[in-house]
Amino acid sequence: MKLNIEIDSDSGFCNGVVRAVKRAESYLDSHYGLYSLGAIVHNSQEIERLQKKGLQIIDAEQMADLQNEVVLVRAHGEPPATYALAQKNELRLIDCTCPVVLRLQKQIASVYKEISQQGGTVVIFGKKGHAEVNGLVGQIGGNAVVVESADELDGIDFSHPVALFSQTTKDPEEYAMLIAECKARSKRAKGEADGDGETGKDGGAGESGKADVDGDSGRFRAYDTICKQVAARHKSLVKFAATHDVILFVSGHESSNGKVLFNLCKSQNPKTYWVENLEMLNLSVFKDGESVGICGATSTPHWQLEELYIYLQDKIKN
Ligand code: SF4
Repeated sequence: MKLNIEIDSDSGFCNGVVRAVKRAESYLDSHYGLYSLGAIVHNSQEIERLQKKGLQIIDAEQMADLQNEVVLVRAHGEPPATYALAQKNELRLIDCTCPVVLRLQKQIASVYKEISQQGGTVVIFGKKGHAEVNGLVGQIGGNAVVVESADELDGIDFSHPVALFSQTTKDPEEYAMLIAECKARSKRAKGEADGDGETGKDGGAGESGKADVDGDSGRFRAYDTICKQVAARHKSLVKFAATHDVILFVSGHESSNGKVLFNLCKSQNPKTYWVENLEMLNLSVFKDGESVGICGATSTPHWQLEELYIYLQDKIKN
């Protein structure tokens, strides 16, 4: 069988993960082992590779039992409590918090300081329990509402200031829809407060070109906090998935960015298959002469895409 196989040139680790993995490897080149607080990347094969070099994944409870050790903080970032614990236990941190996440943490803390005095709410569009989200919520002592969809906005008081942020790896389209819904709710709340008979008629989406502030009242603000690399990858993957007959999407099943990007590819190309490891590859899905695109999440190392490419080339030869 002949297949025209191409690896997506934009796929592979994002900068934040590249930086964390490089720092872990460079430390392990000259030391016996290194603790990582949580999985350095949501990809079991890459974790296995690093574990062979001496990386040991620990959780917060295990970290609490360490004294005078070196611990890596991954790109997702951590809440202030982790830094306090490190200080208490005299741990040295190799802090690989992605600069983009760090900026977002600081921005949330600063906005919260401002709006909490006016009875406002910080809302984070993200996956509950995700490490990055925990780190963000921790910046403001847990005083944020985390929502995974518009259905969860009901308890939020839009008659007071609301500041909306997104986890860096969320789907830009979903975030835009959530912003539109929040704008509509903010306008309704304002209308109710003003006794405005027009309440509820304006869905807010009509003004979404200016999707940052409810300009009438300034009570609702949405911050553009999806990582630019993630947003760019969404755009390029739409094109990549649509221009191949079959898409092989490589990612660990625990990667939230992986789930989002897989669904995006699938929406463009129904012949999209999730391949976490080589054993998952089903050769019966290919037809002679088809073009096959190999791509992955921000947590998928490039070597894994190349490995699949070589494996597939080899299989179709025989
Ligand atoms: S996705 Fe973006 S923000 Fe998140 S770690 Fe990677 S580069 Fe940083």
